[in-house]
Amino acid sequence: MVKSPEDMQPLLASKNIENMFFKKHLRNFKSELIDQSIHTLSKQITSQIDCTTCANCCKKLEPGLEENEIVRLAAIKQTEPHVFKQNFVEFDGEAQFLKTKPCMFLNDCKCGIYESRPNACAGYPHLDGKDMKYKRSLWSNYTICPIVFNVIEALKSELKFTYGS
Ligand code: SF4
Ligand code: SF4
Repeated sequence: MVKSPEDMQPLLASKNIENMFFKKHLRNFKSELIDQSIHTLSKQITSQIDCTTCANCCKKLEPGLEENEIVRLAAIKQTEPHVFKQNFVEFDGEAQFLKTKPCMFLNDCKCGIYESRPNACAGYPHLDGKDMKYKRSLWSNYTICPIVFNVIEALKSELKFTYGS
């Protein structure tokens, strides 16, 4: 099991083709079964990873923000929501994101606004959803988050997926 992004990084390039075959392998299983396995593995693996020494999601991703969250974060920064938006929020035509990377609220691998963090942060790495095998974010998060990486690798074993030798 990898414990950190640094452990994970050297393995990623060699997993590209393997993962293409694994995505095909997943087609053999019902979505509900995959969801159930991912939910169980996620609980087991999350308890073994220390997010407070990682924070890779806070360094590499831009969490989505709802309007009420922008108001809340602006208040924390003691500024007006429209000023906060101008300076720190990006709109991609569909959704708004906190655009500072690493996150402006990250403080030594810990969230400085933990109790007030956006829902997108609280729910990360989003392994509790439905139809997980169809989610593109699962595969992008595989390259960012050690929890997701370990869950997918454990899922390969559980589904008796083999690749290479
Ligand atoms: S959720 Fe994943 S990427 Fe974020 S801190 Fe925890 S292990 Fe690291
Ligand atoms: S608000 Fe907190 S949890 Fe969310 S990205 Fe920033 S530091 Fe991380």
